[in-house]
Amino acid sequence: MTSEITTPAELQKMDPVFGQLSFDNHEQIVFCNDKDTGLKAIIGIHNTVMGPALGGTRMWKYNNEWEALNDVLRLSRGMTYKSAITGLNLGGGKAVIIGDAKADKTPEMITRFGQFVDSLSGKYITAEDVGTTTEDMDRIHEVTNYVTGISEAKGGSGNPSPVTAYGVYMGMKAAAKYQFGSDSLGGKKILVQGTGHVGETLISHLTKEGAEVFVSDIHQDKMESMVAKYGAKIFTGADLYAADVDIYSPCALGATINDETIYKIKAKVIAGAANNQLAVESVHGQILRERGIAYAPDFLINAGGIINVYAEIVKYSKEEAIRRTENIYNTTLEIFNFADTNNITTQQAAMQIAQNRIDERKKENANK
Ligand code: NAD
Repeated sequence: MTSEITTPAELQKMDPVFGQLSFDNHEQIVFCNDKDTGLKAIIGIHNTVMGPALGGTRMWKYNNEWEALNDVLRLSRGMTYKSAITGLNLGGGKAVIIGDAKADKTPEMITRFGQFVDSLSGKYITAEDVGTTTEDMDRIHEVTNYVTGISEAKGGSGNPSPVTAYGVYMGMKAAAKYQFGSDSLGGKKILVQGTGHVGETLISHLTKEGAEVFVSDIHQDKMESMVAKYGAKIFTGADLYAADVDIYSPCALGATINDETIYKIKAKVIAGAANNQLAVESVHGQILRERGIAYAPDFLINAGGIINVYAEIVKYSKEEAIRRTENIYNTTLEIFNFADTNNITTQQAAMQIAQNRIDERKKENANK
């Protein structure tokens, strides 16, 4: 969530929007301002070739507007590839609201934001993200239909985290199949970093299958609860990244695979829910490949959440959402094979397949 690319001062010397380094031919960027409610938001529509641009609204205390713009550009682009690789008829979009969700958010502000979403007539569809909740989506739903992630009580798909966790579990099994020759996780030593909404459900799947699960979290009580509920073990080593485990599952923060950690990692598989796990995709993806570590691309295996909310658009059942999420297993195996055949990283393989789908659809759309 920080501007890792350049400083605001440097950015200002460039074209302020289209010259942003995270700008990647985004179709539309909408700046939303409302004096009365204090709303300052940016909606980024990266690409709508595959369908309406769907992506969550993040509310975050950005240090400055450049950081917010950079974030929305980067995140909306990520959504384009996530939906394309998952086979959903959705484009990529995302929104950011500048402010502290705990201190600054008001119902009026969220309603006003919903009106801005509505003004785009369905080109952008919103959902929850960091700093926004199901309750916020219900409120937005009062002023627009272009919202997903509303509560089950109001006809929505409810909490996406269990479905996300199931997809990560499927991706992890596929990565294990590729790396170890069997997709059984029984007896495997697995380190789960982050025992939040996704991490906990993942841990429950893993322990049920007989894996030896180690957990790490900044909150001691959460780790203790994983021990009590699932028989997980708290990781007590000095360095998490040097842990002697078979599988490392980042389920907390992004960019944990970076210059400092990458040569320490002993795990032979990396598969987790966190977004943007590779600090620098091209560099760290390549080093993992050279080190023989099977990396399941995050944006592919954490797509259960978007599969879950997609049900609100195309009206399928929870069972269908689970079935589609299960398919992450097959897609992950395809990605590993495609990467080997083309001698590229799994991240590059997933991006390339997603881009091919978008290019094909663009041709079909042009011929209609
Ligand atoms: P969450 O906030 O419920 O859980 C995150 C957990 O990580 C918390 O328990 C927190 O204490 C812990 N944590 C924070 N910093 C840590 C650190 N340095 N070391 C160890 N633990 C730390 O979030 P979540 O919904 O479980 O999502 C987890 C990750 O997956 C996030 O990166 C999120 O963006 C991504 N993701 C989630 C979904 C979803 O459906 N919830 C979908 C796609 C991607």
